[in-house]
Amino acid sequence: MENVTILGSTGSIGRQALDVIGEHPDSFSVVGLGAGGSCPQLLLEQARSFDVATVAVHDEDAAAFLRRHLPDRRVLSGRAGLMDLAGSGQAHTVLCAMVGMEGLYSALEVARSGVRLALANKEALVAGGDLLLKACRRSGSELIPVDSEHSAIYQCLQGQSRSVRRLILTASGGPFRDHSAQALAQVTPKQALKHPNWSMGPKITVDSATLANKGLEVIEAHYLFSVPYESIEVSVHRQSIVHSLVEFIDGSLLSHLGPPDMRIPIAYALSAPDRLPLSVNYLELASVGRLTFEPVRWRDFPALQLAYVAGRTGGSMTAIYNAANEVAVAEFLADRIAFTSIARVIEHVMEQHDSVPVDTLETLTACDDWARSCALKEAGRLSNV
Ligand code: NDP
Ligand code: MG
Repeated sequence: MENVTILGSTGSIGRQALDVIGEHPDSFSVVGLGAGGSCPQLLLEQARSFDVATVAVHDEDAAAFLRRHLPDRRVLSGRAGLMDLAGSGQAHTVLCAMVGMEGLYSALEVARSGVRLALANKEALVAGGDLLLKACRRSGSELIPVDSEHSAIYQCLQGQSRSVRRLILTASGGPFRDHSAQALAQVTPKQALKHPNWSMGPKITVDSATLANKGLEVIEAHYLFSVPYESIEVSVHRQSIVHSLVEFIDGSLLSHLGPPDMRIPIAYALSAPDRLPLSVNYLELASVGRLTFEPVRWRDFPALQLAYVAGRTGGSMTAIYNAANEVAVAEFLADRIAFTSIARVIEHVMEQHDSVPVDTLETLTACDDWARSCALKEAGRLSNV
């Protein structure tokens, strides 16, 4: 029986993780759940139906609600409560599925505690990759990616990481892959929240539309697999069936294919190297028909290029990229800036920053804070209200 804690249990990844675990009650026991607190009722139902001993929630009102309804369980609150749960060592695996750089604080606690870290929260790695990897190395914590592209590469690389020539990340291209540059300037949050292939939380759905998601994933791949940026490429693959590819020095390509269903990489991160049977729609190749690959429209989706610049610059610049993007996406979703202003905000903030090495969490937090206020100012300047 594997004990699992899920941070971000009320989100898209968290709910799907509980679906996977619900299909395998004899293999997993949920010992901890964590969330922000925007839907305490759902967290309460999850805690009851999985008989969870400890719940952590960021919001104090949500924590008070949970304490009232779960008098016999431990209810922790605030960032400190989530960090406590993350680092408690009660679980064999902690799935970090919170959204945003906020998740880094908990992810670091997991990494320090030495248990397996199943990481969906890509912003944690993009902002604090050096710190997180160092903590994993020190404690022996195993880091398994949940992001579908990275899970694919992780599986293709088993035992052969020395002979890699290139990583090729596939991208669906998002809902606006066929929009003209003029049409992109007019898109609304409602349109951006409709992804053609995946159903996900709002932040990553907008990131997929700007291709900032692919940018974050390029940086994520660099950290996870120690591959230089010039050897990480992106290919637009509309069907989201090939989840990424690894090219080896002898010209061989290995890839991971499957239906676009996040339960598959989530389940793998929980059970690797074993595989679990899942109630997915198994792929019928004849009904897929064609698999297509196209170049990225770099000029129309500048957020991807900016991620390469941030990654190559290194140090604090990837945290700056991430923070500026988080702020710009929130401003776009609040209808205060145009879709195309998201990349402008990121570019502006990166231009104002001189990268520094990230040796401590304090340095990182200071850079993150600075980038957020700089991004907010620039978003105000570009505001359309
Ligand atoms: P959602 O927005 O659906 O869920 C986010 C989760 O984080 C919720 O449980 C939310 O809690 C919680 N949360 C937010 N703020 C805090 C906080 N301050 N403290 C604790 N918990 C918090 O996001 P997704 O599930 O879509 O994505 C989660 C992560 O996984 C992201 O980093 C994303 O990039 C990555 N990912 C997602 C994929 C997907 O298919 N969805 C695919 C690959 C990666 P509450 O509900 O209480 O606010
Ligand atoms: Mg992905």
